[in-house]
Amino acid sequence: MRRSLVPVLLLAAAVESLLSGAMARPFIDPRAEKSEAIDNANAAEPRDAACVAPRLVSTGGAAPKNPHTLAVRWIGFSNYELVYNGRVILLDAYIDRGSFFTPLGVKAADFKKADVLLIGHGHVDHMSDAASIGAQTKAQVVGAPVTTEKLMTQPIPAAQIKTVTGRGGELLRFDGFTVEPILGRHGEPNPQVGQTVGKAIDALLPAMTPEQKAEEAAIRTRGVGGPRVITEGTIAYLITLDTGFRIMYRDSAGVATDYEKQAMARVGRVDLAITALRADFLPQYVVPQEMEYMQVYKPDVIMPAHHDAGLTAGYDGLWRTTEPVFQALKDANPALVTVSKGYREPTCFNTEFNVQKGTR
Ligand SMILES: [Zn+2]
Repeated sequence: MRRSLVPVLLLAAAVESLLSGAMARPFIDPRAEKSEAIDNANAAEPRDAACVAPRLVSTGGAAPKNPHTLAVRWIGFSNYELVYNGRVILLDAYIDRGSFFTPLGVKAADFKKADVLLIGHGHVDHMSDAASIGAQTKAQVVGAPVTTEKLMTQPIPAAQIKTVTGRGGELLRFDGFTVEPILGRHGEPNPQVGQTVGKAIDALLPAMTPEQKAEEAAIRTRGVGGPRVITEGTIAYLITLDTGFRIMYRDSAGVATDYEKQAMARVGRVDLAITALRADFLPQYVVPQEMEYMQVYKPDVIMPAHHDAGLTAGYDGLWRTTEPVFQALKDANPALVTVSKGYREPTCFNTEFNVQKGTR
């Protein structure tokens, strides 16, 4: 009797303490599952609504009250919004994707506030709304030469456009954070997979209507193609907040370059890596590239990118699967935390806990 009652009482006490603790916390930092100290730092604060609400800060939503809270929201494909210290960092801009995609719940015209827009590369599904969002928000828009050459032909003031090569010496400074552009490389998926799996998926999906084809053709004019995008047009961005918290953004899943390896040898590790999944569908192809990112960036948390898909033939149809990839990464590194949420659903981090400070 006694032996069975004790664990029950302990469990009840643990549940009660968890519940009361959760109510007092400003948000649930995803790393708190590995380290209780992270959430306890702000245990006296009420829960921050900005870490629950789906409204983007760039479209009028509230920023976190604590200036050292980082709010991260995925907006489809490799688009992300980062909010820190009242500042808005947009990553990629492919928002008005067309009626052949799942709606994001937000339009490019809704974006009114951003300080900087970092474009990973110039393919249409990464930059098609960069000019309009840049012009509306007056944000600095950053990209590789092949990306900004295209941007210069679009309706955005040239003074807002910043060209970077990612080959070093280009640190960008903003209020509360810095951005280091690093030359990456675009993904080069196995063509056999696309021809086999892609065709099979397309065979099961509806074709685009003539209206959708026209819509797509118009969107496509706002991106670039060609070999330069692969070799000199894909930029990884290392964002360092003034707390020391580091974020690596990688919007296309090509191999890690020597530039990336050198940068990481210098800084050691990042707190959060936002990495695109390869376009190969099958974990056997996708996992090795994510594994390399985990080994090179050494992140505490990985959030995926480029994993959703369109609704018609020609847009993959099938979301790139995250869970088998996460499982393989966690098998190799049990300390890793993976976070994958829905469109615009926030994830908040207490950035005062970070690798650089050694306060994890
Ligand atoms: Zn691309």
